[in-house]
Amino acid sequence: MKKFLLVSIISLLFSCNSSAQKSKAESNTQYPVNKTDTEWKKELSPEQYYVLREAGTERPFSSHLNKNETKGTYHCAACNIALFKSEHKFDSGTGWPSFDRTIAGNVAFGSDNKLGYSRDEEHCANCGGHLGHVFNDGPRKTTGKRHCINGVALKFIPAE
Ligand SMILES: [Zn+2]
Repeated sequence: MKKFLLVSIISLLFSCNSSAQKSKAESNTQYPVNKTDTEWKKELSPEQYYVLREAGTERPFSSHLNKNETKGTYHCAACNIALFKSEHKFDSGTGWPSFDRTIAGNVAFGSDNKLGYSRDEEHCANCGGHLGHVFNDGPRKTTGKRHCINGVALKFIPAE
């Protein structure tokens, strides 16, 4: 009987330990879509990985979406959630696809100071993929915001 009790206690200790480790791993999960770097590398092109997972910036005027005026929706290139609508796109002249607003709730914000001044970093709220930055020099007639987005982070779905 004593031996049985001891075994029970030991197995209880082990199960507590493994569940503690599990909850630690789970607390690192910030986004509904959560993949390892290896998984993202497999799924994304090198350019997409650089922008979305390493917060890189594509060369200005390099994206075919920069001048895209077709009606439709811009989705996250990594997880496919809808992020921007064509009706909110405008030509900012900066060389990156620009929007005056996001699809609310699907884009999240954080700050980065890479260029030495404070900017609002923008990323996908569903997978955490970096998209671009938001500035306050957008169209005054609408929101005044310029969401400056890397075209490589977007997937355009034309309206039917
Ligand atoms: Zn995403």
